[in-house]
This record gives sequence, C-alpha cells and structure tokens, in this order.
Amino acid sequence: MNEIPYPRRLTRTVSVGPVKIGSGLPIAVQSMTNTPTQSVKATLAQIQKLVKAGCEIVRVAVPDQAAAEALPQLVSGSPVPLIADIHFDYRLALKAVAAGVAGLRLNPGNLRQAKHVTLVAQAARAKGIPIRVGVNAGSLPPDLLKKHGGPTPPALVEAALRQVSLLEKNGFTDLKISLKAADVATTVAAYRLLARRVDYPFHLGITEAGTAFTGTVKSAVGLGILLAEGIGDTIRVSLAADPVEELRVGWEILKSLGLRRRGVEVIACPTCARAAFDVAATAEKIEKKLLNRDTPLRIAVMGCIVNGPGEATLSGLGLVGTPKGVLLYVGGRKIKRGPLSEMLDELLKLAKEL
Ligand code: SF4
Repeated sequence: MNEIPYPRRLTRTVSVGPVKIGSGLPIAVQSMTNTPTQSVKATLAQIQKLVKAGCEIVRVAVPDQAAAEALPQLVSGSPVPLIADIHFDYRLALKAVAAGVAGLRLNPGNLRQAKHVTLVAQAARAKGIPIRVGVNAGSLPPDLLKKHGGPTPPALVEAALRQVSLLEKNGFTDLKISLKAADVATTVAAYRLLARRVDYPFHLGITEAGTAFTGTVKSAVGLGILLAEGIGDTIRVSLAADPVEELRVGWEILKSLGLRRRGVEVIACPTCARAAFDVAATAEKIEKKLLNRDTPLRIAVMGCIVNGPGEATLSGLGLVGTPKGVLLYVGGRKIKRGPLSEMLDELLKLAKEL
C-alpha cells in the first residue's frame, strides 16, 4: 500500500527534539502522562510504557513549581522528547524551557498577557524549541466567547491566530497549532478554517473525547475526516482511560488510513454460519500475544474458504477455516492444514521470528 495515500496539506517543518513534524513527514503519535509530574519515578515508568506502545512525543502537565522542578530529571530520563503543558503561569514555561524540554504547549485562553507570551517566546527561541499554540474550546478567551456567541469554529481560529500573530511579532515562527473541541463537527470545521489561513503544522485531537469506547469512536471519526483531507501532522487521542490505550487507538487510526505502519494488523472476518473455528477468540489471542511487536505484519484470520484464501494470500500470515481443519498461510502461500491449536501456535512462532 502507498505510504502516503492522502495528499498532505503543505506546511513548514517543526522539530520536537529529534522528531520532525510537518507535511511529507510521518504523522507523529503523542500522548500525555497522568501521573503527578513531580513523582519522577512514577512518571518515568509511565513514559516507558507509553513509548513501548508507540508514543513518539510525551506531554507532561506542569501545573506548579513542584512539577517544574521535576522536569530536568524527566527530560534526562525520557527516551522520547518531552513537551511541557503550560496554563496560567508564564514563569512555569520559563522554568520548563530552562529544564531542557523539547517543546512547550501554551493555551492562549489561559496565558493572555502579551508581555508574558513575549518572554516565553524569547526563552524558547534562545533554546531553539517550538511552541504549540493549543486552543481548547473549554478555555477560550472571554472576549472571543462573547464576540462569537460561544466556542464556535471561528472563535477557536481567532484565538489561535491572535496568539500566533503575537508570537510572529516577536519573530517567533517555530509553531504548531491545535484547535480542540469535544465534538467532532466543531473540531473539523475549525481545523478546515485554519488550514486556509496558515502553513504551520497542526496537532490534531478531539479533546475530552470520553471513555475508551466513545472516545475511540469520536476520535476515529474526527481525526479520520481531517487526516483523509491531508490535515494533521501530529495526533493525540484523548481518552478517559489508561494513556496506553490512547496510543493503541492513535496508531490504529493512522494504520487504518494507511498513513503509518506499525506492529500487527489483524484482518478478521465477522464470521457467519460457515465459520469453521472461533475466529474472534483466535484473532484476539493473536493481537494480545503480539501486542508489543513493532515491525509491521498483516495477519488474516478467516472463518472459511469464501473470502479466507483471498485475504490470506494478501497477508504475511493467515489462518483459514475448512471442515477438515485450519489452513496455515505463510507469505501468501498455503503451507499446511491441521487442528486450530497447532496452526495457531505455529503462526505465533512464525510471527515472532519474522
Ligand atoms: Fe462467513 Fe467465511 Fe465470510 Fe467469515 S469468511 S464471514 S466465515 S463467509
């Protein structure tokens, strides 16, 4: 499959540590820790888990001095670049920059004084780190809420552009922008509007999307629409769940659009009366056993020979049910037939070796 099936919106390039972001570059997958940032051990342990699940950039909240003071240790212990998430207090942003973070996220609704933004921009420029102007529908500047009658797409866009122009006036253009709302329609409309106005890379997300199930559906729909239009250069799926789940969902969204490849992609039929074995349980077992595999591998798990051979032929490995046993496919070729347990063991062994 073509690596970049959707033409991407043309943007500048921004570097978050070694991770380059923008059109023509892989869409980076982010998440955020939810341990207390000052608990260095717990936060680093969570960062390790996120990285194992495919996180390429980690954001940490910096709500107070204690969190800011933990940043140097977090920066040196993290295998991926860290972004400090700042609200309200510009001095925390200055501390984060001094601590060596790879980027800042500023919320224009909560950091409004021009002189404070200017100080942060100067510090970030001196260190060569980017700033994300991260607009959130839940914290828009009050004057814009009044002007637009609520957190509408134009209100989100104006909030972003106001801070962007302030930063540009300070000669700071090392920027990414996000415009997050909790509903898909607002988020999509806002990003589309802003895409016509600037060429900065976009970080995408549906904020406060919900629990693992509803949040996954909302994020897949919202991010899917934008990504299919070529909009979006980094993503974060926000779930009220273990952040490791956010990574799994984020990667699946990108994989389903053919925008990135990583780990195992299990193709499984929904089954019907023709299914010769328990496809769902088998597919789940395969996904679970191969969860931490990074290298891309497509595995077909198909109940019968109606669509099974076709899918198995297109996959690296495959299992296809027949009345006389399960067929094992390797590299698109039928290799052998046997009981499910034996064929499954062999498939898992091969998947680990490949
Ligand atoms: Fe049914 Fe066979 Fe199609 Fe699976 S592959 S849904 S078992 S017809």
